[in-house]
Amino acid sequence: MRAAFRNEPFTNFGAESNNKAYDAALELVRSKLGQEYPLVIGGRRISTTRTSLSINPASKNQVIGVVSQADTKLAEEAIQTAARTFESWRFTEPNERARYLYKAAALLRLRKHEFSAWMTLEAGKTRAEADADTAEAIDFMEFYARELQRISEPQPLTPLDEEENQLYYIPLGVGIVIPPWNFPLAIMAGMTTAALVCGNTVVLKPASPTAVIAAQFALLLEEAGVPSGVVNYLPGPGGEVGDYLVDHPLTRFVSFTGSREVGLRINERAAKTRPGQKWIKRVIAEMGGKDAIIVDDDADLDLAADSIVAAAFGFSGQKCSACSRAIVHEAAYDEVLAKVIERTHRLAVGDPAEATTNVGAVIDDKAFRKIQEYIEIGKSEGQLVLGGASDDSVGYFIEPTIFADVDENARISLEEIFGPVLAFTKAPSFEEALRMANNTEFGLTGAVISRNRAHLEQARREFMAGNLYLNRKCTGALVGAHPFGGFNMSGTDSKAGGRDYLLLFTQAKIVSERY
Ligand code: GLU
Repeated sequence: MRAAFRNEPFTNFGAESNNKAYDAALELVRSKLGQEYPLVIGGRRISTTRTSLSINPASKNQVIGVVSQADTKLAEEAIQTAARTFESWRFTEPNERARYLYKAAALLRLRKHEFSAWMTLEAGKTRAEADADTAEAIDFMEFYARELQRISEPQPLTPLDEEENQLYYIPLGVGIVIPPWNFPLAIMAGMTTAALVCGNTVVLKPASPTAVIAAQFALLLEEAGVPSGVVNYLPGPGGEVGDYLVDHPLTRFVSFTGSREVGLRINERAAKTRPGQKWIKRVIAEMGGKDAIIVDDDADLDLAADSIVAAAFGFSGQKCSACSRAIVHEAAYDEVLAKVIERTHRLAVGDPAEATTNVGAVIDDKAFRKIQEYIEIGKSEGQLVLGGASDDSVGYFIEPTIFADVDENARISLEEIFGPVLAFTKAPSFEEALRMANNTEFGLTGAVISRNRAHLEQARREFMAGNLYLNRKCTGALVGAHPFGGFNMSGTDSKAGGRDYLLLFTQAKIVSERY
């Protein structure tokens, strides 16, 4: 029997020894930069002439890896391989499948700082952010392995005298996994292993900016003994290869985390039945957020400021859970704004490889320009009270930026920016603050900082967020404790890291036998 699931502890970077160990991991990873990463289809390494460079966003001349790029022919091969492998993998014993995840989690734990260091260099994550990402990847595997074992136990059914009835959660088939770059290890690993542990086979199309960390993980699964063809690593251009995979008649489900725009495109394409297709494709989509933290008039204002700063500027606001709107009761507004400015001012922006850095670079040129555009829009929609500057001479650096006195219907209040840009809005009452927080097509996370019991209860009922946090920040969901996923345009509310998640990758079969 395994011990009950517990979250992997975070590394304390207050301790010098841990920083030294991290420095050593960075050195190790630096010694491996610039290598080539082939596709992996059925265990076969395939190098292509077309490649994509993965670079360090904080130092754009540094090449992290040279990644082969699939075309539609190779995508076809990957799907056919996954479909063939499914015919044996689907019948493997659930406990055996769970053990691959336990093994992969154990291997990852041994090389924790190394994987985090890859993320520092490839995704621009600070030590603490990268460490949390790796811990979450371990958590997902430990959690889903146990979950698969739980749902493979006999399920409760009403007993009948004359029959034996059994419910089995059986796999779906070939899944296309399209993860995001912002949790390049945790979410990618969680989506992939949830699919495979249920007995599905996977074509993993990694996010281009973080294709190397995904390749490292694919190798780790191989080392853990996951048979060839169960996970096929297929980097390639989204429009060409992504569409082909989604459209394919052998694709049974698509598991996607990313932007609203791409999620909706996948949903539409997957809804169309192709010649030879035998099923309705299932789409599991986690998309954007426009998350608000509400501060009430009687709140602990230091707690409010700490929560807002951490949730708005952690990983430069590049989380779909990030706080991009602070909606503050007018009685507390000036003080909260001053406290947030003061704390944000103290954040050190710089190379995330340095132990002292709080905010690194944003992911790439495209993100950099998009965020810059929103800062310009913000200047006409609110009062720029902090930051606003950006510099891409070395890496894609954008200062944490705060706009005050922003209208709830301004573009920077409604559109997802996915960067270090925070809008402050003044609310005349708690009820109005709640209404403003709900004035969005998204519904992912949210928080309320208040001491008022009635207001907290009202928020529990009326705040439309899949993950609502009271008196704490709205980022940092923990596997098992805070199953994660949102409402409306935030996606299908799939609740990654929760007890409902694996059911999305299975179908229930009842067998009823009379003797
Ligand atoms: N689960 C993460 C959190 O709670 C956010 C995931 C995401 O940004 O996609 O902060």
